[in-house]
Amino acid sequence: CPLGPALLFVKTGQENTEGRRFYACSACRDRKDCNFFQWENEKVSETRLAAREEYNRNHQPSFTHGQNVERYKDFVLLPLSKRRFCQECQQLLLPAEWEKHSDHQFRCDISTAQLRSPSRLLYPLENKKTNAQYLFADRSCQFLLDLIIDLGFRRVLSVGTPRLHEMIQSKDSQEEDFRVRSLLLDIDFRYSQFYTEDEFCHYNMFNHHFFGGEVASETCRKFLCEDNGEGVIMITDPPFGGLVEALAFSFKKLMAMWKETEKGGHNNQELPIFWIFPYFFESRILEFFPSFSMMDYQVDYDNHALYKHGKTGRRQSPVRIFTNLTPSKIVLPVEEGYRFCAICQRYVSPGNQHCEICNSCTSKDGRRWKHCVLCQKCVKPSWFHCDNCNCCTLQNHTCEKTDAGCFVCGKSGHKRSTCPSLS
Ligand code: SAH
Ligand code: ZN
Ligand code: ZN
Ligand code: ZN
Ligand code: ZN
Repeated sequence: CPLGPALLFVKTGQENTEGRRFYACSACRDRKDCNFFQWENEKVSETRLAAREEYNRNHQPSFTHGQNVERYKDFVLLPLSKRRFCQECQQLLLPAEWEKHSDHQFRCDISTAQLRSPSRLLYPLENKKTNAQYLFADRSCQFLLDLIIDLGFRRVLSVGTPRLHEMIQSKDSQEEDFRVRSLLLDIDFRYSQFYTEDEFCHYNMFNHHFFGGEVASETCRKFLCEDNGEGVIMITDPPFGGLVEALAFSFKKLMAMWKETEKGGHNNQELPIFWIFPYFFESRILEFFPSFSMMDYQVDYDNHALYKHGKTGRRQSPVRIFTNLTPSKIVLPVEEGYRFCAICQRYVSPGNQHCEICNSCTSKDGRRWKHCVLCQKCVKPSWFHCDNCNCCTLQNHTCEKTDAGCFVCGKSGHKRSTCPSLS
């Protein structure tokens, strides 16, 4: 499909019937956005193949990345009064094109500062199922960058983190002694208007597809392998609706690119990674990356009302950092109340109490959790032990079991829509 190789899914049938396998778009979960569909063993006729190719060609962006780079060079030569950005087409305009966009809304006097911060110029894509863009609040973006610098990294592979990328890029062009560089991999092609082929690759993180082909994947490989692989970290903040398995597949491919280097060649060394994702995906992530651990830091966003950092209940962000670096090295801001637990050897949120029985700081959501002797583990403060279900759960649940595991947390006993993690 236009977004690269499709993924093989399985339609689970009724009990005892084997599910039927089919290919569908890797990135779009809504058939309205991409209706690619093919049964696993289906024979596709020549005519349909041709039609498909034609369709894919027609769904390419109107300019190539190379053309956009040339256009940018022309654009920055224009005086401020001639620098326009079309809001409808989300495109920098050259004077010869004004006519064509005359009945569109546009912004004028696009400054150098604005060009350095495209995530503030472009509107965030809001398609819930495919491509919801949640941009870091300054607090979190600055924290991540400070952390990267303190840890001694000099190169950042920014996978789906355009705002972090632009913070790094703009410091690099403004501050004398700033020594960090970033390469952005993202599916949002609008960014190709602002970055060269060495700064941005059009990339799909659900199938490890580089739209720029071999040349683009080589750019990425070289970036990872510079300095014999020393000093590089990958930071990713995928859409939360994304399939963990598909993401893990792609991240393993990126890790393998780095593995070829001298540094990666040493036993058990892994490409350092920060994977930013909600805490209730912890068990899913650890399934694929046993070396990862979850940090208590709450990542928050500008344009997400529910995921704001703060002390009050529901407004606390559920988004965390998963990393394969040693937890004790990830220093969380003490001025925000995070403190170091000497027993767990990691920084924890203010409300996270060390449980003597579990022998760990067990809170996942920042609130103080309580220990249940029957479950033999700590649970959310709002839960109680239900003798029917034989586990701790919400007070007003209905005691019924479903066999299939929950899509969100993987546990049995409930479906995705009633997952206690989400509440
Ligand atoms: N918090 C980040 C943005 C995260 S939003 C920041 O402020 O920098 C998710 C990002 O992933 C968006 O930039 C979006 O364009 C990108 N994205 C969504 N689907 C993707 C896919 N299939 N492949 C690559 N990037 C994708
Ligand atoms: Zn598609
Ligand atoms: Zn502890
Ligand atoms: Zn406990
Ligand atoms: Zn219990």
